[in-house]
Amino acid sequence: MKKNGLNKDTLLTHTGRGADWRLVNTPVARASTVLHASLADYEASWHADRFAGLSYGLHGTQTAFALQDALSELEGCHRAILVPSGLAAITVALLACVKSGDHVLVADCAYGPARKFCDEYLTRFGVTTTYFDPALSMRADADAQLAALMQPNTRVVFCEAPGSLTFEMQDIPAIAVVAHRHDVAVLMDNTWATPYFFDALAHGVDISIQAATKYFGGHSDIIMGSIATTERWWRPVRDIVADYGFAVSPDDCYLALRGLRTLGVRLKAHQAGAMLVARWLQQRPEVARVLYPALGSDPGHAIWRRDFTGASGLFGVELKAISRTALAAFVDSLKLFGIGASWGGYESLIVPARFTRTASASAFSGPLIRLHIGLEDPQDLIADLERGFVEMGKAEAR
Ligand SMILES: *Cc1c(COP(=O)(O)O)cnc(C)c1O
Repeated sequence: MKKNGLNKDTLLTHTGRGADWRLVNTPVARASTVLHASLADYEASWHADRFAGLSYGLHGTQTAFALQDALSELEGCHRAILVPSGLAAITVALLACVKSGDHVLVADCAYGPARKFCDEYLTRFGVTTTYFDPALSMRADADAQLAALMQPNTRVVFCEAPGSLTFEMQDIPAIAVVAHRHDVAVLMDNTWATPYFFDALAHGVDISIQAATKYFGGHSDIIMGSIATTERWWRPVRDIVADYGFAVSPDDCYLALRGLRTLGVRLKAHQAGAMLVARWLQQRPEVARVLYPALGSDPGHAIWRRDFTGASGLFGVELKAISRTALAAFVDSLKLFGIGASWGGYESLIVPARFTRTASASAFSGPLIRLHIGLEDPQDLIADLERGFVEMGKAEAR
């Protein structure tokens, strides 16, 4: 979809470039103190928009403002704001929407630490959580099923599509219709697709959350989050960021802005590689199922094709039941897949999936692993996995 008449790749090239620096890239502007020309200027700064103009380093400098401008344009939102991590983007967004006595609905496939925040911290403030089956939103009677979940004190529906580790899609527009009828805010963790492949706000989301750590950064060297809001939710979100004292470093903003320039080319390459590897895995006798909405066989494929313009490089693989030794032999023998948390960098990764589900049936008979397909040649990745399956077979036979 075009933003301001420009296609996203053009926008990513031209957005967020401070006009008055005469440099292609906005520099790293490091500051705590910002000096003012006069008493009157200093006093005027108390009332100015602290997230758009210099006031104090806590609220950002030109580097953060340039990144926020770029994200506002890319997200097609009222404003976007930066926070220290993807998890902070989730907790800030939730805190902006609730008060004591309220209730939130959370998709059962949401990022694990988001669940922990609801269960262990929102509860302390008297906010209750109900988890819902993400598949429910894709049923013929979704409207009635979702409406039945709404309580008089429900303030938030929190979605993540596709979900962390298990990759369930949700019908975001259908959820938004019901939520808005009940005056409930729709929050979405859109880290998997990014605004490049899914226009969250255009599909009814009120607050779009990104772990900028992943594809925005794109090089596995920053931790950051961003929150994009509609006009209605800008002030509540901004106030939590300001009043809780969250800040991001200008060095990290510089790296995120630099990462954004290549978001489009990287994501298209991640998608192409992931598709080849996923299709190859589907044919393997060791594999029970590949969890990737871009595959025609995926239960969320129709919704993905309707609403998303692409798929990123992250998917799940359910292996057929094997011993722990055989799984370790497989993972440990891979040379091109690093074993490590996070994803969205240029390199391929593998991790076993550990997750909690309380509202949906997650029937996995074998181990579930998560692959991130980096920018390597997919044929080399396939050869690496094939070698891994040989080692797995040998270990299983011993
Ligand atoms: C990684 C991740 C986060 C958290 O991001 P951090 O920057 O590591 O805090 C949130 N949501 C999803 C879906 C993620 O994959």
